Amino acid sequence: MDLFEYQAKELFVKHGVPSSAGSVAEATADAHAIAEQIGKAVMVKAQVKTGGRGKAGGVKFAKDAAEALTHAENILGLDIKGHIVKKLLVTEAKDIAEEYYISFLLDRANRDYLAMCSVEGGMEIEEVAATKPDRLAKISIDPVAGVDVAKAREIAAAGHLPEEVLDAAAVTIAKLWEVFVEEDALLVEVNPLVRTPDDEILALDGKVTLDDNADFRHPDHAVFEDKEATDPLELKAKENDLNYVKLDGQVGVIGNGAGLVMSTLDVVAYAGELHGGVKPANFLDIGGGASADVMAAGLDVILGDEQVKSVFVNVFGGITSCDAVANGIVGALEKLGGAATKPLVVRLDGNKVDEGREILAQANHPLVTLATSMDEGADKAAELANK
Ligand code: GDP
Ligand code: MN
Repeated sequence: MDLFEYQAKELFVKHGVPSSAGSVAEATADAHAIAEQIGKAVMVKAQVKTGGRGKAGGVKFAKDAAEALTHAENILGLDIKGHIVKKLLVTEAKDIAEEYYISFLLDRANRDYLAMCSVEGGMEIEEVAATKPDRLAKISIDPVAGVDVAKAREIAAAGHLPEEVLDAAAVTIAKLWEVFVEEDALLVEVNPLVRTPDDEILALDGKVTLDDNADFRHPDHAVFEDKEATDPLELKAKENDLNYVKLDGQVGVIGNGAGLVMSTLDVVAYAGELHGGVKPANFLDIGGGASADVMAAGLDVILGDEQVKSVFVNVFGGITSCDAVANGIVGALEKLGGAATKPLVVRLDGNKVDEGREILAQANHPLVTLATSMDEGADKAAELANK
């Protein structure tokens, strides 16, 4: 999950990373009030999850509250690279002597963590990498040793930060590493990390990506979720711990195991070519335990998608045998009752396949068609979706 700047800065405050004080506003009057409370020059900053806000007119200096109000009026509602500004961060404006760059990230290619640091901050780091690669230090971090103040000083020196600020920069950089580790982040980036005229080192921007796989360790991260921006079906799936991705087609797909579901998407798309070009409507992996509850939750999500015209349930019985899955389907349809309105094509294979098919045959549900192979099931589901 990517965070807004104001959220990243909340984590900075929590870990003692020096920044500038401020608050979030959703209305121009609130921006004015915050600026008045700060009582000196402020920055009015668009909160959107994309970079280059400054260049797009989304970051403005205001010498007083009246000017902050004008900027707030101009920035709220602004479209920055397809992101509409709904929130502003109003912070105390700091005097800047120099702008640096620092980031920690997961370096997948080298199975390692990486620190990047440069004296050339403020501009986009891709540009620094392209035009002044010798000014950008890339230092791999031993995950066990981590980054203490001494290591942080090494990173700052490698990024060519001036000698006289290395000590102060090291303290801030070590704290940013603490954010990276303790919050289970995949990225912590500060651009600019600034030097003030009195040699303070402050994080004036913040970009943090949290590792969703570590959510269970961080109940306090739930507040960061941008519910408005999340697809409602994906949100519902997430609440039920389902691995769901909405796609654009008409054939709902449920399967167990990511590999099986991926190949089911391919087979459905292929079959769809013979049936008016229908396509898969989603990816949904219900995982190993295909109980009635899980199946019901999965069907519920898929049937909530208005574009869906038919559903293809493709399950290979392994640890969860086909009879359990079949009972799951029957139970789910009972549970959903009138909410289940679209035809279901079911293909079962593997462990206890005969028992599973027998259970579905006995239930004889009017919406359910049994298929004997994956290709046949995909073809049937595509045909039904094209009706
Ligand atoms: P970005 O354009 O999305 O990366 O947004 P930033 O938060 O990095 O702001 C863009 C630029 O605004 C920075 O590079 C700074 O030059 C400037 N800026 C941000 N905060 C302050 C501040 O407190 N004081 C001053 N004088 N300039 C600032
Ligand atoms: Mn920035």
